[in-house]
Amino acid sequence: MALVPFGGQPFDDRDGSIWWDGALVPWRDAKLHVLSHGLHYASAVFEGERCYAGNIFRLRDHTDRLIASGRILGFEIPFTAAQIDAACNEVLAANNLTAGYVRPIAWRGSEMLSVSAQQTKIHLAIAAWPWPSYFGAERMAGIRLAMGAWKRPSPETAPTMAKATGLYMIGTMSKHKAESEGYNDALLLDWRGRVSEATGANIFLVIDGDLHTPTPDCFLDGITRRSVMALARRKQMTVVERAIEAGELGRATEVFLAGTAAEVCAVREIAGHSYTPGRITETLMRDYDALVQRSPDEVARIIA
Ligand code: PMP
Repeated sequence: MALVPFGGQPFDDRDGSIWWDGALVPWRDAKLHVLSHGLHYASAVFEGERCYAGNIFRLRDHTDRLIASGRILGFEIPFTAAQIDAACNEVLAANNLTAGYVRPIAWRGSEMLSVSAQQTKIHLAIAAWPWPSYFGAERMAGIRLAMGAWKRPSPETAPTMAKATGLYMIGTMSKHKAESEGYNDALLLDWRGRVSEATGANIFLVIDGDLHTPTPDCFLDGITRRSVMALARRKQMTVVERAIEAGELGRATEVFLAGTAAEVCAVREIAGHSYTPGRITETLMRDYDALVQRSPDEVARIIA
């Protein structure tokens, strides 16, 4: 039986509409040719966004990152940020969603199929679907992380600042190994052996009562991560962004992840080190849950 996340319905067999290069198409017709450059050479960048109470949280930040990711891979998405924002909202409305997950993806087309891709057209598609948040006790109970089977590469080896599809190969392989060993996810170290992030979310550690998070010099500086840092500072917490060695994992008392999909999610174990999700995790989880329900103007003011 195929393993299909989020409710069992395969992603290519659902009702609804997907935005594709400027127009809505029926969900099942949003098909790509098999000789697309993006599939063969990972010339694709994407975003993951959440909509709450009718507003996509920090939409323009996601759109800006999408455009920047494309530029890092050497292409220009043929839509403006304002057009992309509008398209994200259009696809939510077309699918009758006021809450859910939004997935824009840009890729090189099938005009050329070689390492060189100069003549390829750049496409943009945006889909949206319900993806409920886990609340309260479930997220506070904490997940278990294995040590990743792969390391995050140096920024000289891969475009680590881009949300590029190719970088997720390391994540999927690490996550599959972790799941096969009974863990929920993996913590990836970087090429130097330092703590970097989980496969789809950034990491925070509470050490001596302060909040520590690795400097994002070879992985995504997540939008959720930056929001959580702002919320922590508003609560007068000390936030320390620095290189964190793997050997320090035993010093942490609380650990949590932060990402659009995961939101703020407690961690109760990393490869044999145990943590007790506590006051700091709970405070930031609650503050983040409240923040995402606010209007875009209020969000901008709070995290400024
Ligand atoms: N790291 C990785 C590898 C991710 O996929 C994500 C999710 N986009 C994040 C971190 C967190 O980023 P954000 O908070 O912007 O969703």
